[in-house]
Amino acid sequence: MIKIKTPEQAEQYRRGAGTLSKSVLRAAGKLVKPGTSTKQIDEVVERLIRMHGGTPGFKGLYGFPASICASVNEVVIHGIPSEEKILQDGDIISIDTGATVNGWVGDNAWTFYCGTPSVEVQGLCECTRDCLKAGIEQAVPGNHVGDIGHAVQQLAEANGYGVVREYVGHGVGRVMHEDPNIPNYGKRGRGPKLEEGMFIAIEPMITLGTFKVRTLADGWTVVTQDGLPAAHYENTIVITKDGPQILTQDDQGPWCELQGGM
Ligand code: MG
Repeated sequence: MIKIKTPEQAEQYRRGAGTLSKSVLRAAGKLVKPGTSTKQIDEVVERLIRMHGGTPGFKGLYGFPASICASVNEVVIHGIPSEEKILQDGDIISIDTGATVNGWVGDNAWTFYCGTPSVEVQGLCECTRDCLKAGIEQAVPGNHVGDIGHAVQQLAEANGYGVVREYVGHGVGRVMHEDPNIPNYGKRGRGPKLEEGMFIAIEPMITLGTFKVRTLADGWTVVTQDGLPAAHYENTIVITKDGPQILTQDDQGPWCELQGGM
């Protein structure tokens, strides 16, 4: 069932969970440098979330063991932070942060450059970020879920990239995952109709090579089948009569820098 929220609830979400989820994502990006472990980033994010009165939205969710997902290079999503995973110059890292504040669950993600990735990989990241923007533009009342997926898929595939099928965006609110699912592929005019007051997390997961993925033996880490890099950008928005409004934004806005360590 799709839950419709009021404008007051959207404002509550933005000021609490939305702001904190973005500010800790931005802080995480500043730590993305060669020599940093993904565990260090996780610890800083958890401390910041708790310091600001929130709780980490991912920790314990379906049994996930950490406060962030830290997905390096060929890891698409759900990478588990580890002391042994040390970032290297040329890596990319997708960080997913969620903070729960006043009962609302924030959700957003960004892929950062560690040092200088190849031009090819930078292109993948830029395009995936633009796919997120293209998807958000379609989130207006009267459009359908398929319009979002179509916009994302068109842009990604026109640039020669793959669109992950098994994992999708979602409704969000008092819990991390609500109806409806928001695939990153689809046909115009298909799927549930978008209505004012829906909170949805749009999150393109785009690959340099094959769109096919598999899960490692830890039961979490999702990697591309060909081992080529993937990128992942996400914002949570509310659909309003005036168009989409991004709820996961802080005083610097809803976007981060692509370059980490800044
Ligand atoms: Mg999400």
